[in-house]
Amino acid sequence: MGVAEVLPIRLYGDPILRKKARPVEDFSEIPEIAASMFETMFEAGGVGLAGPQVGLQKRIFVAALYHDEPEEGEEEIPLKARVKDQYVLVNPRITFAEGEAVGTEGCLSLPGLYSDEVPRNFRVRVEYQDEHGEPKVLEAEDYLARIIQHEFDHLEGVLFFDRLPPELRRQFLEENRAELARMQREAKAFLRELAGKR
Ligand SMILES: [Zn+2]
Repeated sequence: MGVAEVLPIRLYGDPILRKKARPVEDFSEIPEIAASMFETMFEAGGVGLAGPQVGLQKRIFVAALYHDEPEEGEEEIPLKARVKDQYVLVNPRITFAEGEAVGTEGCLSLPGLYSDEVPRNFRVRVEYQDEHGEPKVLEAEDYLARIIQHEFDHLEGVLFFDRLPPELRRQFLEENRAELARMQREAKAFLRELAGKR
């Protein structure tokens, strides 16, 4: 992996998105991996990105909060230049969670698909290691807590629509059936191409 390269994002249908990611033990490549994950996330316009989404079965995710977009008519600022806070969480463990909140989520592995009904805890505490392996604790609420729970789920092979109540989950899969099938075909084609390169 080169320095901070944009990586291909794995789409719904790629089996790695349903696998449990493995703990990171060797941190030697983690700063470089995190830099590439940030580049990939900024390029795709996301607020979070987990290892499995770029084909890494590792327990790592990155996340960012951004300053507001400029008003209409003002000059556009690239997403990267609007970063307010950014996070790298390796081997995260959610050690405390409370409160309930229903909100909107999308996913870079399910581009264009959203649900407004995803239930999450309102507040979480997460213990993790930074990109150098240093132990850290982060307490988050509301939007950041939602991002953390969404990304943490990726490390367990869980996607946001899995969190919907059964009836809404069924509805989500039904309403987006064609688009999901298209992603599955694209994911398969990508994997075939990848296998061909090896
Ligand atoms: Zn996601």
